[in-house]
Amino acid sequence: LETAPKYKRVLLKISGEALMGDQGFGLHPPTVERIAREVQKVTDMGVEVCMVIGGGNIFRGLQGSAQGMERTTADYMGMLATVMNALAMQGALEALKIHTRVISAIPMDQVCEPYIRRRAVRHLEKGRVCIFAAGTGNPYFTTDTAATLRANEMQCQAIFKGTQVQGVYDSDPKKNPDAVFFPKISYDEVLQKNLKVMDASAIALARENRLPIIVFSLDEPNGMAGVVQGAGTFTVVS
Ligand code: UDP
Repeated sequence: LETAPKYKRVLLKISGEALMGDQGFGLHPPTVERIAREVQKVTDMGVEVCMVIGGGNIFRGLQGSAQGMERTTADYMGMLATVMNALAMQGALEALKIHTRVISAIPMDQVCEPYIRRRAVRHLEKGRVCIFAAGTGNPYFTTDTAATLRANEMQCQAIFKGTQVQGVYDSDPKKNPDAVFFPKISYDEVLQKNLKVMDASAIALARENRLPIIVFSLDEPNGMAGVVQGAGTFTVVS
């Protein structure tokens, strides 16, 4: 970890499931802590970090609607789940003495800050980690789209999509040992081949704004810090 970071400001997107460890549900505090320490390695290099965390470890709108709930109600519940995850991550980061703000697309003043773009930018300039919660604040969207939206608004140089594999493959490498790895791939190819990087609206929004998506493994120790320096294995979608 000796070379200079290639980025000044990035957005890290992780799914809610990344926080549940080996449990099938919810939050696993040691896992949250582990990811917080990975983030710390990046902030220690002076990189400004935004985060968006999904809510799938707690609640997904589509699940709720499949069970008969109204889709919009279920989606709001999913957005609230992301706030819980954001608070857990804030706690873990602040335990490491990293100043962190949770910023929600749905105002809930007693819990966290409301989203005000210029204020969020100011936090980043002061070196605070900003965790953007409650997705876009709208039903029918995902936290992938929220991540792309906020990364554009905060003028991040890239989205870092942390996953359980080292990047983008033509098929699931956990199921297919012959899966082909792509070190680089275009937005169009991701969409055409329907590769599971981020959902299509997120990819389209990134493409429109030429925001690179860097897919990497959250399971590698120093993984994110390495990728921020251009080292290790990862896929660049651009
Ligand atoms: N959600 C939403 N609007 C948004 C972002 C999220 O309605 O802008 C809801 C949606 O129901 C989704 C849930 O929040 O299923 C959790 O987010 P997501 O599925 O993206 O989480 P992840 O899969 O990344 O854990």
